[in-house]
Formats: sequence, C-alpha cells, structure tokens
Amino acid sequence: MKHQSKLPNVGTTIFSVMSALANKHNAINLSQGFPNFKSDQKLIDLVSKAMNSGYNQYAPMPGNLDLREAIAKKMELLYKSTYNPETEITITAGATQAIYTIISTFIRPKDEVIIFRPAYDCYEPAIAVNGGKIISIQLDAPDYKVDWDEVSSHFSEKTKMIIINTPQNPSASVLSKMDLIQLQKLTEDTNCIVLSDEVYEHILFDGLEHQSICKFSGLKSRSFITASFGKTFHNTGWKVGYCCAPKILMDEFRKVHQFNVFSVNHPTQKGLADYLKEPNNYLGLSKFYQAKRDLFLSLIKDSRFKFKPAKGTYFQVLDFSEITQESDVAFAKRLTIEHGLASIPLSVFNDNNKDDKVLRFCFAKTDDTIKRAAVILNRI
Ligand code: PMP
Ligand code: GLN
Repeated sequence: MKHQSKLPNVGTTIFSVMSALANKHNAINLSQGFPNFKSDQKLIDLVSKAMNSGYNQYAPMPGNLDLREAIAKKMELLYKSTYNPETEITITAGATQAIYTIISTFIRPKDEVIIFRPAYDCYEPAIAVNGGKIISIQLDAPDYKVDWDEVSSHFSEKTKMIIINTPQNPSASVLSKMDLIQLQKLTEDTNCIVLSDEVYEHILFDGLEHQSICKFSGLKSRSFITASFGKTFHNTGWKVGYCCAPKILMDEFRKVHQFNVFSVNHPTQKGLADYLKEPNNYLGLSKFYQAKRDLFLSLIKDSRFKFKPAKGTYFQVLDFSEITQESDVAFAKRLTIEHGLASIPLSVFNDNNKDDKVLRFCFAKTDDTIKRAAVILNRI
C-alpha cells in the first residue's frame, strides 16, 4: 500500500525521546515537563468520591456543568472577565486537544497562522495537517522579546490566526501588558483569531502578573484561551483542560469537538469542580514554584551554566556556551547518557533548528531531585 504522509517531516516528540533516553540510562529526568510529586490527596479523594457517587457515564458534551461554573467563577475572580459557562467554556482532553480542535475548526488550506519560536511543539503539526501555512517569528535568547513591528510586517488579510503562549514554554518568558496592547492594536478591525495558550497562568515569578488575553476587551472578542489542570494541580496524566471563548467562536469549536472526543473523563471533571471551588488550591502555585526555581538557581550559581531566572512556567533555561560548542541536541543526549541528567534542547522548537546553546530543565521536582541534579550540573 502506498500513502503520502501529511506530516512527512514529523518524528517522535522530543519529550518522548528524552524521557525514553532518561529511563534507559536511569538518569534524573528534568526533560519532559511533569511533577515527580503527588497531587493533593484531597483532590484524589474528590475524584474517588465522584466515581463512587456514580459519575461514571458520559459527561455532557461541553463538560460537567459544575466544572464549567467553577471555571467561570475563577475567571471572574482573577481577571474580572465574564464567560457564560453554558455557552463559552468547554472542557477538553488536556490543552493539547483544545489547541488541535481550535486549529482544525478554523484553519483552511493556505490560511496563514503566526507562531512565535521557540514554539511549543503541538501547534505546527496541527496547522500543517489542516493545510495552513505557518508564519513563524523567531525570538532570541536570552530575553525572547517580541518585536511587534516585525509581527506587523508579517500580518495581512491572509493571517487567520495568531498563537501566543504566556508564560511561554520552553523559554520561560512572559508577555507584558504592553505586548498585549500591541497585539490588540494589530488585530483591531480584522478577522484574525487569537489562540492564547495560558496553561501556565498560575505560575509567574517575582511579582509578575499574568496578562490573560481576556483582560483586553478588544482581544477577548476574537480569542480562545486554553488551559490545563495537569499543570495547575500536578496531574499531567489526567489530561483534563478547557478552553474559553465568546459564544460565536465556541459554537463553531463545539461542532468539531463533539465529533473529536465528544466528552472528557467524567469523574475527574466532577472532582476538579469541587476542588476548584477553593481558590487557595491554585493561588499558592507561584510561591510554591518560585521556591523551587530559587533553590535550583542558588545551587548552580557557581556552575559554568549561565542563566536569566525564569519569569514563569516550571522550566529554567540554561546557557551552556562556555562549556562546549557541540549542538544542544548532542549535548542534551551526552548529559543524559554520560552524566545521568536529562533536559530538553531548545533548537527543536526553533526556525531551521537555530541553536542558541541552551537547554530547558524542569524544576517541578522534589527538592531532593533538584539537589541531585544541581550536583551533576556543578560537576560539568
Ligand atoms: N501548551 C503548553 C505551552 C504546554 O506546555 C503544554 C504541556 N503541558 C500543553 C499546551 C498541553 O497541555 P496538556 O498536557 O493539558 O494537554
Ligand atoms: N508540556 C510538556 C513539556 O513541555 C510535555 C508534554 C508532552 O510530553 N507532550 O515538557
């Protein structure tokens, strides 16, 4: 049988590759982004309770209503932004499914989609599979600042969508209020949809405030927000997330969503709904992860790695240019195999694999793991 691949240049994701390499060599795994500590027992008990109370059949197509209502309350509380839980919030199988479904709902062949690189890896294949044209804007280490004049020079009536991500994975940078105002100006009076990937909305450091797209009325009306409970409540394996958008956009999203997954794991949604009602369950996250970032950076401050402290996410980028001139991919593999520490090379997320000689380390780990990783980094 012959077939022509729709994604001829796509292999296995770097996250799977590096985690597999870490397992094979029994290395400390700071590559793929997931915590190595437990989710709150209260949340696990609430999900068990939901199972024992009969939440074991299909959830409504857009998601458990209690959960959608709890999300609407959170959006009010944090951003003073109103989303109707009946029509403007949908629960998804992680943010990944929300992102894929948003892109396939709106992108037709030849539509242009602007992404910023280094870009999280699920955007590009979703655009390509739907025949869209990727317009990528390369941001540079160490600050990864957006030049809005450059964005403007790539923007035209063919631009169907712009994807932003703040706090940003993998660079750990964040967009400022000024960035969002520039984006608002750029898209004013156009039909461009904005996909705002905000899975790290609760993880910002040094007093920085999350600039959710919904705080800007001119943007909110054209935007989807995607979010992930896996990142917020330390259970990436549950794969539950959601998206919010004005009804006119969400109606279209649901037409595709209902035939894509129809609905998402029901008892988990019910447990999350009950847990989300207590804002303290997510409001402490920045402080929790800032302590881990600070521990990691204080332990490696005298190493040969250079860094700017992460502004958000649970990733820290380290520059290794004073250590070796080998490629970041080669160095990441050697670090794993020879030194027992796995990380993610950033070039795989860049245009033409631009290599800034930086690696990403996940510090969503126990303090003991962070300390053991620091010992290795200090030896190099
Ligand atoms: N976007 C970004 C920026 C991510 O880092 C991730 C990984 N958590 C996702 C989307 C996907 O989230 P989920 O695991 O909920 O599918
Ligand atoms: N979001 C995770 C990361 O950035 C990976 C998720 C995945 O493996 N697809 O590391």
